[in-house]
Amino acid sequence: MYDVVMIGGGLHGGFAAWHLLKREPGLRIAIVEKDPTYEFAASARSNAGIRVLFSQEENLRMSQYGHEVYGNFGELMAVDGTPQPLSFWRHGYLFIANTAAQADDMAANYEVQTALGAEADLIDAAELKRRRPSMNTDDVTLACHSPKDGWIDPYGALMGLKRKNQALGVTYLKAAATGFTVTGGAVRTVTLDTGETLAADWFLNTTGAWAREITGMLGFDIPVAPLPRITFYFECREQLEQHSLTIDGKGCSFKPEGKGYVTGHTVFSRAGAFDWTVHEDRFEAENWPLVSHRIPAFETVKLVNSWACHYALSEWDGNALLGAWPGQPENFLMATGFSGHGLQQAPASGRALSELILDGGFQALDLNRFAASRVLEGRKEPERGVKA
Ligand SMILES: Cc1cc2nc3c(=O)[nH]c(=O)nc-3n(C[C@H](O)[C@H](O)[C@H](O)COP(=O)(O)OP(=O)(O)OC[C@H]3O[C@@H](n4cnc5c(N)ncnc54)[C@H](O)[C@@H]3O)c2cc1C
Repeated sequence: MYDVVMIGGGLHGGFAAWHLLKREPGLRIAIVEKDPTYEFAASARSNAGIRVLFSQEENLRMSQYGHEVYGNFGELMAVDGTPQPLSFWRHGYLFIANTAAQADDMAANYEVQTALGAEADLIDAAELKRRRPSMNTDDVTLACHSPKDGWIDPYGALMGLKRKNQALGVTYLKAAATGFTVTGGAVRTVTLDTGETLAADWFLNTTGAWAREITGMLGFDIPVAPLPRITFYFECREQLEQHSLTIDGKGCSFKPEGKGYVTGHTVFSRAGAFDWTVHEDRFEAENWPLVSHRIPAFETVKLVNSWACHYALSEWDGNALLGAWPGQPENFLMATGFSGHGLQQAPASGRALSELILDGGFQALDLNRFAASRVLEGRKEPERGVKA
């Protein structure tokens, strides 16, 4: 018998446990994770970027809290007084607009961002060229640079959080959830592929791109689909200036990684099913034309490594789905659909889940905008500008 059982032990499940135990140290918590190596988890394969460049206050505030937690991770996750340092490269984010419409979105978003205390500069093509001499800026209509943003080591965060949770008393079980029992309008138990059955007062669906499989076990469907996304690591002969995590309006992103760079390209029409094939040919067909257009020195690069992973894409509006599903047991909560911004928002999502359990509603940040119930209410809340 547990107080809370998380299905899925990535960053969202892990941060929910951590927040719960920070407030109620006596809680009995189990995290059920089918793959403790996290080989396929988005949390381990993420680009791990943290940015203030959002158009919606809730998204921005969640990521600001992500800055706070990942920025102080070593101390917050200290075990027996020993800090667990986390690498955080603050080389900034750079959004590039290529059309007048993208520039309009960017300028409108900038007003929101700066009003909320985010540090960002709206810059024209000439200023971009001054800051990033290796870039082709001929087709740039506007750019937005947030110099204090950056990216972390995602696997380091995942392992540090797990160690901290274990020190706080969380039980991590290697097992896959295969079904639930529901009586009297509440989920009572989860069955595992090990043959075990766990009873609890609360169940959290923190399985990311697998979340729909879990709700299917309870007999309802959510608009969250795996979106296959391949990450390519390449090296460039030329030594360039320090680059930020750059998201180009043409549909491609890249960031420095070790001696080289990683790039990804989001094709929304590929959402729907898991695809673990590493389609290397897509580098030359899709990514390379875009990144070499932006940085001509990337015309001669060496592709070194590639791997596949999946966004938990919110097909509804690109934003998270939080909390219970209307008409379903109220002790079954979800946090999924974070698309390409879930690592930075996992600390805030975990806090939100802990508040739903301990307080019966959102407290630190009003996240009703992202309540899962909005789907059945027909309310869409898309970001303006970058959608993932
Ligand atoms: C290529 C890529 C780049 C990204 N870049 C960024 C970025 O720059 N910034 C950002 O903020 N976010 C980014 N994201 C998104 C972010 O990584 C995810 O939103 C976040 O890591 C999701 O965490 P999670 O805990 O919900 O899911 P996951 O980390 O995927 O964890 C879910 C876990 O559930 C487990 N599970 C599944 N089914 C079961 C079951 N039946 N029983 C038990 N366990 C189960 C899985 O094994 C998995 O470990 C990126 C994602 C990808 C794929």
